[in-house]
Amino acid sequence: MRRKLAAGNWKMNGLKAELDQIDALKASHATPSVDLLLCPPATLVTSAAARLGDHPMMIGGQDCHMEHSGAYTGDISAPMLADAGARAVILGHSERREAHEESDEMIRAKASAAHRAGLITVICVGESLAQREAANTLDIIGGQLSASVPDNSTGENLVIAYEPIWAIGTGKVPTTDQIGEVHDFMRDRLERRFGAGVGRSTRLLYGGSVKPGNAAEIFAVSNVDGALVGGASLKAADFSPIIEAL
Ligand code: 13P
Repeated sequence: MRRKLAAGNWKMNGLKAELDQIDALKASHATPSVDLLLCPPATLVTSAAARLGDHPMMIGGQDCHMEHSGAYTGDISAPMLADAGARAVILGHSERREAHEESDEMIRAKASAAHRAGLITVICVGESLAQREAANTLDIIGGQLSASVPDNSTGENLVIAYEPIWAIGTGKVPTTDQIGEVHDFMRDRLERRFGAGVGRSTRLLYGGSVKPGNAAEIFAVSNVDGALVGGASLKAADFSPIIEAL
């Protein structure tokens, strides 16, 4: 069976003082029954991993370069993230697809590099509001999945996050039927491409305005194995009840 996963994406938020939130999460989830992943900004990865001690929560990055090393000013490679204590990395978030013009092909190359570095990848897919209103959601998701998920994926190193762009930071959440339709579709696509083993063990997260008040309803949807949480992961007081709902 797939282990549930609660993942937090701090985006470009967090100074050293915010590492106190990790202490609070450790205190309220000393022996978590689900997997936990927190992705602070790159500047905090080393200190966040150190702050964990022997707690099983994972620390992750929010992006990585596709090359191992080289003349890429400002970039961070997958081996560097792993070396800093990260065990996972978010890739292809819509904010990077948009603001940094990341293509599916780039995301696939980054994910392949991350897998080679031993990292779990959380690959994000999602449609815009215009695409949903044009009834193109499944086409978009299917295209992103096949083009951005690398061949060296396994049930252990691959996590997919379905994040409808119109639900991110807006307080708008798809209906449970809409979430279920996309998650069932993604499961089917993964099983067809990778076979039942990988297809059934890959965890599928939902992301976009997940809050303590709506988490339980979302987690009850078939093929939802957890959440990728933005704003509500910044404070342990908000993230904790989401973890507990899983
Ligand atoms: P919010 O939870 O703030 O809507 O963000 C979702 C997200 O983009 C997580 O990656």
